[in-house]
Amino acid sequence: MMKKHSRKACVLALTAFLAMGRVLAEDVEEINCGTPDNAPALAKSADIPKVTKVYSGKLKAMVIRIGFSDAPYSVDTATINKTNATINTLYRSMSRNTFEWDWRTYDKILIAPGTAADYGANFNSLQSWITTQITAAALKRGTDYDVYVASFPQIAVGWAGLSNLRDADWINGSYSAGVTGHELGHSLGLPHAHSIEAGTDMFGTPGTTTQTNEYGNPYDIMGRGGSTGHFNVLYKWRIGWEDSAEIKEVKASGTYRIYAQDNAVHKGRTIGIRVPSGNINYAYWFEYRTISTTARNGAAVMFQGFRTSTNLDSWYLDTTPGSRTSGDESDGVLAVGKQFQDKYGEATFKTLAINTGTWTEEGWVDVQVTIPGTTPVSLIARNNGIRLFRASEVPAFNIMGRSIAGLSSMQTLAVKTENGATRLILNAR
Ligand SMILES: [Zn+2]
Repeated sequence: MMKKHSRKACVLALTAFLAMGRVLAEDVEEINCGTPDNAPALAKSADIPKVTKVYSGKLKAMVIRIGFSDAPYSVDTATINKTNATINTLYRSMSRNTFEWDWRTYDKILIAPGTAADYGANFNSLQSWITTQITAAALKRGTDYDVYVASFPQIAVGWAGLSNLRDADWINGSYSAGVTGHELGHSLGLPHAHSIEAGTDMFGTPGTTTQTNEYGNPYDIMGRGGSTGHFNVLYKWRIGWEDSAEIKEVKASGTYRIYAQDNAVHKGRTIGIRVPSGNINYAYWFEYRTISTTARNGAAVMFQGFRTSTNLDSWYLDTTPGSRTSGDESDGVLAVGKQFQDKYGEATFKTLAINTGTWTEEGWVDVQVTIPGTTPVSLIARNNGIRLFRASEVPAFNIMGRSIAGLSSMQTLAVKTENGATRLILNAR
C-alpha cells in the first residue's frame, strides 16, 4: 500500500538494520526508526560534551537523479535548485556563515531496472544498484562528492528520507528542503531532536522509550522544525558551530542572559547554558529562539542523558506537559514567571524576563538558576564562634594574636581538641 507521509516524517536507519529485515513501526503520525546513535561517550558525565567534529568551509553535496522502469524521474531542475538554495540559507545561518553545501547535480538521470513496487518491497536492491552506478561512473567520495543525495520517485517504504549518518542520503518522492536538509544533518552526524512526553510528568523516567517523541523538538529541523528550524544549541556545539564564549557551563547560582540562537549573527555572547543535574548522568540545556512565535515566550529547555547517560541526544522538555501527541510541545518553553526544579537535585530554574518585541539576534531571555550551596561563602572563626560569611562579606579577624584578612584558598582552619583544650589551627595547604 502506498502511504502518504508527512514531509517531516523521516527514517534514519543503517543499511544493516534494513538488511536484517526488521519492520519499521509507525509511531503516532511519525515514524519510529530506531535511530542508531553513534555519539561518543562523555569524558566525565558532569562535563560539557566534547565537540564531535568541526564542520567548516564547504562539503560537496551531489544530487543523483534516479527514475524507475515504470516511473520517470519527475522533479524539475528549478525545484532542485530552489530546494538546495533553501537548505543552504539555513546551513549558512546556523553556522554563522562558516559552512555551506557545495551543490552539484550528476548530469545524467539514471534509470534503475526495477519498478517502484520492486524497490518498495526491497529497498536494499535500489541502494545496491545506486552504489554500483556510482562506482561505474567513477564518482569518488572526497573528489566528486562528500555526500550524495539520491532522489527518486516515491516508493512504499514508510519514510520520506534516509541517511547512513555519513556520505549517503536517500530522498523518497518529493524533493523538499525540510526532508533533504534534515538528512544532511544526519550526514553531519546529528541524531533526531527528540522530546520527552510522559503525560503530566515533565521529566519522565530516563530510558523509557514510550515517554518520548522521536521528532518532538518543534523548532529543530532534526525534529519537527522544518526548513527554517535551526539545530538546537547542543547539536550546534557538537559540530563546532558555537564557541566557548557562547555556551556556558553553569555550576553556580546566578541570572543568565541567553541571546537568541536562531540567527546568523555571531557576537560572542551567551546563546546557551548547560547546567548539570543533581545526578551527574544528566544535564539541562537552555536556549532562546525568536523565529517561531511560540518559541519567543521563554527559554527552551532540553534534557541530556534520557536515552543513556553517555548519549548526546537532545530531549526537549515540555514545561507545560499534557499528552504525548505531537504539537503538545508548542507550549513547552519556560515562559516568563515559570519555574521548575531539577528532578534529581535541588537546583531551580526560572524565567525572569524576555526582551519583549525584539525578535532578532537582540532577543534574549533571562534565566535565574539557583543551586543551593553554590553561593560562595567562607568559614570564619571569630571570638567565641564560627560563622559563615559570603565571600563579599568576609571580615578581617584576629586569631592567636595574628591578624588574618580572611581565609584564602591556600589555608585551612581546623578545630583540634588536645590535652583537654580546644584550639583553632590555621594551616597553609
Ligand atoms: Zn531522520
